[in-house]
Amino acid sequence: MVAMEFEPVIGLEVHAQLLTRSKLFCGCSTQFGAPPNSNTCPVCLGLPGALPVVNREAVTMAVKAAMALGCRINEASVFARKNYFYPDLPKGYQISQFDRPLGKTGRVTVFSGERADTGKIANRQEKVFGITRLHLEDDAGKSIHEGLPDAGSKSYVNLNRTGVPLIEIVSEPDFRSSQEAYDYLTDLRKTLLYLGVCDGNMEEGSLRCDANVSVRPKGSEKLGIKVEIKNLNSFRFLQRALDYEIERQVKVLSQGGEIVQETRLWDEAEAVTLPMRSKEEAHDYRYFPEPDLLPLKLDPAWIERLRQELPELPGPKMKRFIEHYGFSIEDALLLTGTAELAGYFEECARASGNARASANWIMGDLAYVLKNSGKEIKDSPIPPDRLAALISKIDSEEISGKIAKTVFEEMARTGEHPLEIIQRMGLVQVSDEASLGALIDGILAANPKQVAEYRSGKTRVLGFFVGQVMKETRGQANPQVVNELLQNKLAGG
Ligand SMILES: [Zn+2]
Repeated sequence: MVAMEFEPVIGLEVHAQLLTRSKLFCGCSTQFGAPPNSNTCPVCLGLPGALPVVNREAVTMAVKAAMALGCRINEASVFARKNYFYPDLPKGYQISQFDRPLGKTGRVTVFSGERADTGKIANRQEKVFGITRLHLEDDAGKSIHEGLPDAGSKSYVNLNRTGVPLIEIVSEPDFRSSQEAYDYLTDLRKTLLYLGVCDGNMEEGSLRCDANVSVRPKGSEKLGIKVEIKNLNSFRFLQRALDYEIERQVKVLSQGGEIVQETRLWDEAEAVTLPMRSKEEAHDYRYFPEPDLLPLKLDPAWIERLRQELPELPGPKMKRFIEHYGFSIEDALLLTGTAELAGYFEECARASGNARASANWIMGDLAYVLKNSGKEIKDSPIPPDRLAALISKIDSEEISGKIAKTVFEEMARTGEHPLEIIQRMGLVQVSDEASLGALIDGILAANPKQVAEYRSGKTRVLGFFVGQVMKETRGQANPQVVNELLQNKLAGG
């Protein structure tokens, strides 16, 4: 019997908290970490008679995100009540969008690769993934079952998060490996950060991801029974949970079993997914249009203005870096990691006129300095114009690559301009043929035995003479000039 080959089918539902200062339907602050239940009012507590008013900034951010993901913007979308009971949901419903979401049928192009067992990503190429919909909704609060003295017998609730604006981004079931899902989520997070609409912090819950996973025999068109996985609090969890769940489903089916439609939680400590509750059907939420809010109508001219204001997004920026600078996909991915990093690179490349060297310094020495000091590129001790000045000094052969490393270390340590450091430490490279020539004449005269050896064919002693010149000049002689002068003088005998 031949073992059947299966392929996974994965879709992701991402909730991203929008970076507004106030909540979606009231003026309460969205600040993270405020004293429990201090950011609340009658509207977000769902008290009778309180009426919601939609936050214009939240709509603006959601529209920008929808456009960046290639969605069609609905000029009229409808808020709907999603009804369910939970202690952290005082209204008894979330205000969401159902059959008329803000944005739909989008698509994104992601440079996605294949992951080897070693963890190395190879064969990165452009892949297109569909976005089903993007809608606005308000968040629920937070139940706390741990960390308080009487947590054994009581649960607590913090309603600060109740009513905070979210966008939910639902992908098509287009991912065929955990790596594709990982690459999509990475790209999505990057896009939201470029737009400045979400801080992308998965640990604080401002970016949350659930996955729908099924497997089917390879070549089959029919979808298998899907399982929803929750509690994916990091990119690593997402990948590990998907790999585990795909393997589990294949095993069940290979042994003639059946997949149960259910929600499972990722348990990172045990590295398994565990059943949570059987999947509620969508109609259990009894969606109906929110009677306290009119349909959300957007002016086409205003939408167009927002489109003009969109920054260059990570995808187009990557393509430009590959085409314009001739970078590899991996280098372009790294350098466009954040808008700030890409901006730093371009400023340095422009000022120095040397894009390749700028990229190498930024991805190498500068990345190392930032990592060791726990700093972001925007707090770099070395501004881009100063790194460019250093690169220019190397390119004009005023300093050697070796001296440049010393200057760079000083720049990182003191924040000084490279020219000041080169002056202060007397590090200018000596390329002057007259003074180097005189020095070499002296060295040759003092070492007649080695000169004779060279002239008898043992040209290896050239290294000895180079060493002597470097010693005399404390490493500041231009090695290329020294080599040429030495060869001429030794040959000229
Ligand atoms: Zn409120």
